[in-house]
Amino acid sequence: MNKQKELLKKIREFMILNLEIKKLMNALNVDEEVYNIYEEITKMVREPNKIIYKKFYNAGKEIYYKEYGRKRKDIAWFPTIDYEKCKNCKKCIDFCPKGVYELENNKTIVKYPFNCIINCNACSYMCCENNAIIFPEKKIDKYN
Ligand code: SF4
Ligand code: SF4
Repeated sequence: MNKQKELLKKIREFMILNLEIKKLMNALNVDEEVYNIYEEITKMVREPNKIIYKKFYNAGKEIYYKEYGRKRKDIAWFPTIDYEKCKNCKKCIDFCPKGVYELENNKTIVKYPFNCIINCNACSYMCCENNAIIFPEKKIDKYN
């Protein structure tokens, strides 16, 4: 379990680092070709990362987030689907980089809720045209 948690933390650090490098490249107007290679890396690891996030889901729930003073499993931040509005288009499954959504018996469900990035709600306005994805109204407070 500890090694699984470590792996998940390292992947997170890797993705944050990759993002920070791209931001700096943008700010410094680095060659587009060079920037695109880093962008390609982000895309390349997307699917393998999803496999890892799902495979070690139970370990991910046990990760302690010191900024929130709790383990991930004790932080109630994840999407729910309003099935009155959901058209089962499956866009959220493709969109989510953390593998939160999955198809089960041909129905889109929130299968891995605690994989969701805390206080992010990007999928609700970036991919769901039907407004079927709901997040908590209040963001999670940081622990001081
Ligand atoms: S993107 Fe929205 S409408 Fe499409 S499957 Fe997901 S929740 Fe349902
Ligand atoms: S907010 Fe981000 S991580 Fe959370 S379910 Fe939506 S796309 Fe996935």
